[in-house]
Amino acid sequence: MKPSHIEHIGIAVKNLDETIKYYEQVLGLTCYNIEEVKDQKVKTAFFKVGDTKIELLESTDPEGPIGKFIEKKGEGIHHMAFAVQNIEEKLKKAEENGVKLIDKQPRKGAEGLDIAFLHPKSTFGVLTELCEDKSKS
Ligand code: ZN
Repeated sequence: MKPSHIEHIGIAVKNLDETIKYYEQVLGLTCYNIEEVKDQKVKTAFFKVGDTKIELLESTDPEGPIGKFIEKKGEGIHHMAFAVQNIEEKLKKAEENGVKLIDKQPRKGAEGLDIAFLHPKSTFGVLTELCEDKSKS
């Protein structure tokens, strides 16, 4: 698959505003984008750390994926996202290698990226996202 870098790390949080304060005041990072992703029932906030971003995820609905995650496991790291090229091809390859896919086809995620998730049962417990910035390729 050869990802070029870790595109972002997704962190599930209960309160976006309080968490943003921590990342800005303690870590000294700057939140450069806040965006709601309606079909995922989340509000996201982004910070850059080198080539990698931190994506904070606050649920807008207790029945959404992040709402359920927090209820089960509490706040914390939710997923890791790798930047890849030709995401459709990479998904097909992963499936051929026996990896269970959550998304068989890429869909639009935050920041206009094409994204797809691999099932954590196939990735040794880490919910893994592939993403491609098609505006750059
Ligand atoms: Zn993500």
